[in-house]
Amino acid sequence: MSAVMITRKVRKWEKLPGKNTFCCDGRVMMARQKGVFYLTLFLIVGTCALFFAFECPYLAVHLSPAIPVFAALLFLFVMAMLLRTSFSDPGVLPRALPEEATFIEMEIEAANGNVPAGQRPPPRIRNVQINNQIVKLKYCYTCKIFRPPRASHCSICDNCVDRFDHHCPWVGNCVGKRNYRYFYLFTMSLSLLTIYIFTFDIVHVVMRSVDNGFLNTLKETPGTVLEVLVCFFTLWSVVGLTGFHTYLISLNQTTNEDIKGSWSGKNRVQNPYSHKNIIKNCCEVLCGPAYPSVLDRRGVMQEDSPVSATSAAPYSTSSSSSNPVPQTTKTTAPLIPNEHTPDDAKPSIAASAEKSPSPKEEHPPAPKVPPLASPETDAEASLTKDKTH
Ligand SMILES: [Zn+2]
Ligand SMILES: [Zn+2]
Repeated sequence: MSAVMITRKVRKWEKLPGKNTFCCDGRVMMARQKGVFYLTLFLIVGTCALFFAFECPYLAVHLSPAIPVFAALLFLFVMAMLLRTSFSDPGVLPRALPEEATFIEMEIEAANGNVPAGQRPPPRIRNVQINNQIVKLKYCYTCKIFRPPRASHCSICDNCVDRFDHHCPWVGNCVGKRNYRYFYLFTMSLSLLTIYIFTFDIVHVVMRSVDNGFLNTLKETPGTVLEVLVCFFTLWSVVGLTGFHTYLISLNQTTNEDIKGSWSGKNRVQNPYSHKNIIKNCCEVLCGPAYPSVLDRRGVMQEDSPVSATSAAPYSTSSSSSNPVPQTTKTTAPLIPNEHTPDDAKPSIAASAEKSPSPKEEHPPAPKVPPLASPETDAEASLTKDKTH
């Protein structure tokens, strides 16, 4: 049985490894588990809706019309920051291509020499100097790269994320280099919104109670009790979280580094990223340059799919002629179009016979592999599977 290759164009996000989900043709990127994110949305939208329905009409007439206006602006800002954090690439680092992984593997083996059987190989670490401090770069066995400083592998998203802070189920995404400032603005504005609604809930109940009595007021505005409860319990956690991140920003430190004690000084390593100045640290984290995504999620790549020639016969009952099977079969047969080949696939088959484009060639250029590096070497088989996180 012979097989032919057809080439089709796909967006790069469709082929990205890791456990992210994508919407809007790759424009929106999130973690796979989104249940807690929907709860966050429900709590924010629900509480604000109750506030606008029960408190705002009374407060606008008896106190100031600016109260609902400011609440609406704050609500819109909170939602914008939440969605910006949740829907963006947090700074995912692309995994090594097979050729790159083979090359890195060879470099490591050359540096470590022959490890006798039964002995544990030395840890895969590289040292780099940053601001006169030696920082260790750890090897990621899943992404097959030496992670840049401050990057870490998120076990939930299954990706290495640059300047990894933490994985936040409340926003349904990792928090990293590209969305940290929006996450911080989200927590800060949500703190303000919670305090604002809580305060005007109390003001509303007190003002109405003077005329109608306390119990009558609660009967007339049943949403108030619910709002006060939600705001009261949200307040402590959100304000506490904002305070914690303000402290981290003032030190130019991430949650991950704080938990691991990366710069606690026990290894004689001070934080090489800190300017030793609170204002400078805050400016760098909050007002520094915006980093572009290195994933190129909406870029187009070509994918070769083998299609069985016999299954493409007109009388075949197999559906594989209309739905090419995924790349599971390798063929060494010459890629010559035959009468069973779909017409639209013929030009690309000819092109693939000439150039043999593979999906990998669309990625950023790989480091040069020396001639002795065989592309057939199965780098994955020689790697242990203990993930470093
Ligand atoms: Zn990784
Ligand atoms: Zn994550």
